[in-house]
Amino acid sequence: MKNRLGRRKPKAKIRLGGDPILNVVCKPVRFNEDISKILLDMRYIIFTDIDAVGISAPQVGYTKQVIMVKEQNCNFVVMINPKIRQVSTENEEPYEEGCLSYPGIFKVIQRFSWISVDYRTEHGKKMVDIVKQGSVARIIQHEIDHLNGKCLVGKLNI
Ligand SMILES: [Zn+2]
Repeated sequence: MKNRLGRRKPKAKIRLGGDPILNVVCKPVRFNEDISKILLDMRYIIFTDIDAVGISAPQVGYTKQVIMVKEQNCNFVVMINPKIRQVSTENEEPYEEGCLSYPGIFKVIQRFSWISVDYRTEHGKKMVDIVKQGSVARIIQHEIDHLNGKCLVGKLNI
């Protein structure tokens, strides 16, 4: 049977501050786990919000270690089970960060100026000790905070 209105695509919704899912410590993705629905929902949000530079799985309702980060070439890179391996000794200039889950709120946060990260690509390739700096490093640190149940606002106790 076909619905007279046609097939409706389920649309992802961004979880907003106050939603308890934003405080959950996310679980690693298992090797053969199907995360296509998670990636679809995350992509829906970043492609419909022109200001988005990064997103984490819990922000669309999944407590899994998946993030997407906008790189300098404007492509979004998928990082599965990302782990920070090394950090710079110096910090980057403090910078006002916003968050998709806290529209209109910006907070000055200090981050490491560069980090190196281990992760898996969406095609299963293992990436080890990949150095990222500047805004990309900042976005990764912000999104990994989400995987640990930490948000911009909670982080600062306001
Ligand atoms: Zn955020």
